[in-house]
Amino acid sequence: MRCCCDQMSFHIENREKIIVYDKLTRTYGIKVTETVRQKILFCPWCGEKLPSDLSKELESIIFDELDLDDFQDPRMPEEFKTDAWWKNRGL
Ligand SMILES: [Zn+2]
Repeated sequence: MRCCCDQMSFHIENREKIIVYDKLTRTYGIKVTETVRQKILFCPWCGEKLPSDLSKELESIIFDELDLDDFQDPRMPEEFKTDAWWKNRGL
């Protein structure tokens, strides 16, 4: 995947579990505990602003446009199980 710098790419791809990247919502975070992460907006190494968080857009499509019950809804289209949904929309 494209990333802001080699350091960030390294930490995400090597899964050192310091930086957590959620491809579904395109969010980046620093892992604090197994269940807690601190969202980050800028790369800790190069300082570049990270791509915008798409959580609200995702929820809007899932609940308003598709009218699904939750993220486990069996009617969930395949593209919403990966980052395909925002790539397909050019977000
Ligand atoms: Zn960076």
